Amino acid sequence: MNFYRPHEECGIFGIYNHPEASNLTYLGLYALQHRGQESCGIVSSDGTNLHSHKAMGLVADVFGNQEIFAKLPGEAAIGHVRYSTTGSSVLKNVQPIMVDYSRGSIAVAHNGNLVNSQIIKDELEAYGSIFQTTMDTEIIVHLLATSKMNSLEDRIVDSLNRLKGAYCLLFLTETRMVAVRDPHGFRPLCLGKLGSSYVVASESCALDLIEAEFIREIEPGEMIVVNKNGLTSHFPFKKVEPAPCIFEFVYFARPDSIIFGKNVYMARKELGRQLAREHRIDADIVIPVPDSGMPAAMGYAEESGIPYEMGLIRNHYVGRTFIEPQQSIRHFGVKIKLNPVREVLKGKKVVVIDDSLVRGTTSRKIVKMVRNAGASEVHVLISSPPTSYPCYYGIDTPTRKELISSSHTIDEICRYITADSLGYLSREGLVQSVGTGNSEFCRACFTGDYPIGFPMRTPEPQLGLFEKE
Ligand code: AMP
Repeated sequence: MNFYRPHEECGIFGIYNHPEASNLTYLGLYALQHRGQESCGIVSSDGTNLHSHKAMGLVADVFGNQEIFAKLPGEAAIGHVRYSTTGSSVLKNVQPIMVDYSRGSIAVAHNGNLVNSQIIKDELEAYGSIFQTTMDTEIIVHLLATSKMNSLEDRIVDSLNRLKGAYCLLFLTETRMVAVRDPHGFRPLCLGKLGSSYVVASESCALDLIEAEFIREIEPGEMIVVNKNGLTSHFPFKKVEPAPCIFEFVYFARPDSIIFGKNVYMARKELGRQLAREHRIDADIVIPVPDSGMPAAMGYAEESGIPYEMGLIRNHYVGRTFIEPQQSIRHFGVKIKLNPVREVLKGKKVVVIDDSLVRGTTSRKIVKMVRNAGASEVHVLISSPPTSYPCYYGIDTPTRKELISSSHTIDEICRYITADSLGYLSREGLVQSVGTGNSEFCRACFTGDYPIGFPMRTPEPQLGLFEKE
C-alpha cells in the first residue's frame, strides 16, 4: 500500500483570458521556482481542449524551448512547480494532473497537503477507483469525477468537503479556471489582474514578474471562479479559525512577496531585530547564511549596532540544498553552495544568522567553515524557535527523529554544531514580529499544536461515498 508522504512544497500559477496564457504561466512559474525545483508543468485551454506539457526539472529546462508553447495554445493556463521527497519523485507525479471524465476535461494543480488522503483513497479504491500516482491531488480528481453534483463548482465543493488539510488549488476546464484556498488558509494564494485577464499565484512575486496588478489575497475558505463572464467569489465552506503558515515568513516564501497581509522581507528583518533584543552578543561582525538569513541578519545588525558583513558567498547557480533528497548529497551541498571570505572573518568574533536549524547539518558545516577561515569566535543565532515538530501541511520537514531540536537541548545542539554559543528566537518574539495584530498562525512546527489532526491520530469516520461530513 502506498502511504502518502505528507512532504510537498509547491507553487501554483494560473491566468485566464490572455492570448499569451502559457507563456505568462511559464514566467509565473519561473518566479515561483523557489517553491519547488523537482518538476513542473503547464496545462492550457484553447476553449475546446486542454493541452499539457510537464517534466522533471527546473522551469527553464522544461520550458526552455519556445516550440513547446505552440503545443500549449489557448487563452487560459495553469501551472505548477513541485518539490517532493524520495520515493514519490517520478514523472507520473508531476502536476498539473489532467484527466478526461464524463463531463469533459479537467486539470488540477495543488499546493499543500491533505491529512486524510489515505482514508479517502482506501474508500475510493474499495469502490473500484484506480490510482495512477501517489499524490493526494489525484484523490481530488476522483472525488470530482464521482460526485453526484451537477455544476463544476458544486462538484469541487462536494469533493473538498470530504478532505482535510492544506490546499491551494487551481482547476482548469475547457471554459473555466477555479481557485480555492482551504478554510484554514495554510498556504498563501493571491489574485492579480493583467489588463482584462485574471491571474492567481502562490505568491505576489509571480504577479510582479508579469507586471500584473496585485488585487488582493484569496481569503481562507474562498473559491474564485473565472469564466468568460468575469470573476465571482464564493465562500462555500464551514468557517474555521484561519491558520496561515508562519514558516512561510521564516523561510519558504520569497522576500519580495506579500503574503498574509505582510511583506516577507520586512517580516524577516523584524525577526532579526527581535533576535537582537533577545540575544545580545559581544561580537565584531554579523554575517548571514545567504540567502535565507540575509534580511534577519540586516535587522540584527541595525538593532544591535554590530556591523553587517558578507562573510560567506553563495554560488547562485546551485539550487537550495534540500533539492537533493539524499543525505549524502545534502552534506556535500553546503560546500558546493557557500565559500567563506577570509579577509572578512579573520580574527573576528562573528555572529552567524540563519532562518532555521532543522537537522543541524548546515550550521555545523558553516561553523567549521567560518572558524577555519580564521574567526576567533562563532556564535550562531536562528531567527525562529527550535523546529521540533514535522509539518503535515505542505512544508518539507523531516520526520521528528531527524529534527535535532526534538531530541536535544539547545546546549547539546550548540555542542553538535561546535559553536561558541547558540540562540533561537522565542516563540513569542516570532509571533510578535510577524503578527499583523489579530492574526493567528499555524505554528505547529515549533509548538506541536496542529490545527488539524494528522492521519495517525484522527481516524476518519467511514463515510458513504457521497455523504458530506
Ligand atoms: P539543516 O542543515 O537540516 O539544519 O537545515 C537548515 C537549513 O535549511 C537552513 O539554512 C534553512 O534555511 C534551510 N531550510 C529550512 N527549512 C527548509 C525546508 N523546508 N526546505 C529546504 N530548506 C530548508
